[in-house]
Amino acid sequence: MDGPDLPIRRSRRQLVEAVRERPFLIVTGETGSGKSTQLPKYLYEAGLAKHGAIGVTQPRRVATVSVAQRVAEEMGCELGALVGYQVRFDDCTSEDTAIRYMTDGCLLRQILTDPLLSKYSVIILDEAHERSLSTDILFGLLKKLFLQQKPTGRRTDMKVVVMSATLEVEKLSEFFGHCSVLHIPGRSFPVKEIFCNLLSPRDVGSSAYVTEAVKVALDVHLNEPEGDILVFLTGQNEIERACDLLFKKAESIDYRYEVHDRAVEGLLILPLYGSMSTDQQKRIFLPAPRGIRKCVVSTNIAATSLTIEGVRYVVDSGFVKQLNHNPRVGLDILEVVPISKSEAKQRAGRAGRTSAGKSFGLFSREFWEQCMPEHTVPEIRRTSLTSVILTLKCLSVHDVIRFPYLDPPEERHILEALKELYQCDAIDRRGHVTRLGEFLVQFPLPPNLSCALIKAASLDCEDLLLPIAAMLSVENVFIRPGDPQKQKEAELQHQELASQVGGCNDFATLLNIFEQCKASKSPSAWCQKYWIHWRAVKSAFSVERQLREITTKLKQLPDFPKETFEGSRTEILRRCLCAGYFINVARRSAARTFCTMDGHGSIVYIHPSSTLHNQETLLEWIIFHDVAVTSKIYVRTVCPVRYEWVRDLLPRLHQVDAYELSSVAREEVTEEEMTKWKQREELKRQREGATDNS
Ligand code: ADP
Repeated sequence: MDGPDLPIRRSRRQLVEAVRERPFLIVTGETGSGKSTQLPKYLYEAGLAKHGAIGVTQPRRVATVSVAQRVAEEMGCELGALVGYQVRFDDCTSEDTAIRYMTDGCLLRQILTDPLLSKYSVIILDEAHERSLSTDILFGLLKKLFLQQKPTGRRTDMKVVVMSATLEVEKLSEFFGHCSVLHIPGRSFPVKEIFCNLLSPRDVGSSAYVTEAVKVALDVHLNEPEGDILVFLTGQNEIERACDLLFKKAESIDYRYEVHDRAVEGLLILPLYGSMSTDQQKRIFLPAPRGIRKCVVSTNIAATSLTIEGVRYVVDSGFVKQLNHNPRVGLDILEVVPISKSEAKQRAGRAGRTSAGKSFGLFSREFWEQCMPEHTVPEIRRTSLTSVILTLKCLSVHDVIRFPYLDPPEERHILEALKELYQCDAIDRRGHVTRLGEFLVQFPLPPNLSCALIKAASLDCEDLLLPIAAMLSVENVFIRPGDPQKQKEAELQHQELASQVGGCNDFATLLNIFEQCKASKSPSAWCQKYWIHWRAVKSAFSVERQLREITTKLKQLPDFPKETFEGSRTEILRRCLCAGYFINVARRSAARTFCTMDGHGSIVYIHPSSTLHNQETLLEWIIFHDVAVTSKIYVRTVCPVRYEWVRDLLPRLHQVDAYELSSVAREEVTEEEMTKWKQREELKRQREGATDNS
């Protein structure tokens, strides 16, 4: 069985031999050459899955499911049988699954229960060039697994393959002890890159790119010969807006030419983003009917994770939505930022899959030179490390500073994570994991949410927190229609749901939605009435079940904490939330502003989507789930609390020298080195302070 005619086919024998002979192998090749779909199959057919499954990791959920589906189809089996996938809260595998696609985060969690990965014979880390946080950690762990003897033991019979687009290959090879690199010769055609000069450096921070992208896409449709269009935008909202504009031919757009009906006539408009249903996603792979041009409006997912055949024109907004650690608030925030030059090249390359193509960058040369960095900064250097550091600690990696990182994170980021873990009692003053830390790591949730959940479980009232944790783990449940009339209607219904539980606690509103929808005879009709996404609540039901299973198991342990507390349901709920979210506590500082208490002392506003928006003057202390930053820092999903509930917890926010927590990591460091290090850090802080003020 040879499979589809993709560039990888010619390297089949060579690849199988290379994997057989070596413990580590790097495979590179153009996106779309067939690495993700074909290599696991080749290895399976060559008998390499006889003593354990072939595990393939992907940084993205959507790609994991989509590729698994494709391979199951190609191998003529049902998804979940021979070929399956596993993503957070969705396991579609069975005993028979020999090719197991999963997100990198899932494999990381499996290492917690099975450090030697005994059920795998081959591990393939795919899309290594994306440099996601979990993949980076897996690099280090797999390296250790092969090199170290103790305490976790060693695997000599397992094969590791790292697959990547042609980026940073030498660095990767060196990291894995100068392992072999096999390159799959690709097929690609020249792409003409055009600067449209529609965005200048001044447009960073504005959303002008959405309408400009629509204009250019229509322009291409009207003036260019046949070939599909791929538009790169930033997120679901922007994509839906662009698709709406394309559908309506957007009267609001100032056309430079007369638009006749043919503008959208013959154009098949397809959105593509992470939280779309898999059936919807499947449509993008189907060829357009004769005489029709396909226009896929996508997030970055179509840059490397998914390959859409037939694209000859790329419209690149030049922006991406990225998770970045914001030092102003000490939290991770999703931001729209300019892409890197190498990312722009990758996007442009998507136009040259089937024939010569064109890529229209909306930006100007000035924007390219001034705003776009050379390469994308790996996630490990720009997001919070709290969860992964806890995972490493639970895997007995105490020295989290000298762990083999491909690109080490800044030491102060590691210290910040240690501090946060200490604050929620997950590690002790010596940096060792506490029993609570061991409980926390069992939940695939951010530590603060797990903390609140454990508190509730210890009070025997997890029924209050499980639905909330589930609702916060799925996509936003509130529908916000674009049409102003409908938007008003939706807002009224959402207000009604909030006021049913007193109208002053966003967490309680989520609980209310979950409970009412669950109790309803027709949940989808109920959701329709209240402008709630039924698909999101449905996933929350499944997430809640899975979190409940973990909680029930933990509660059976003899040393699981037990507490009692007398109080009303709403008070208990708020106190449990305090146990996890006291790090995100803020006190009102002026009429409508609050000041955070975590040492950053940021001034924050309540987001307009919160039911507490416009009630600020009635509040004193609040806790919040997350933040959104535009011109101001907004806190979202908010709940008022009493000072007495957080009073005893607040000192933890300050009484810790993060440096002390890493003492285990730095055991071998001399006093003198420590002093120097502290001085260096102090200088750095002062310098940063100076730049902040300037
Ligand atoms: P690589 O990993 O080298 O980027 P892939 O194995 O992902 O390449 O893709 C190889 C080919 O398979 C591409 O032409 C792509 O269009 C096709 N393909 C991948 N997933 C699907 C899917 N779910 N449905 C249809 N075609 C797919």
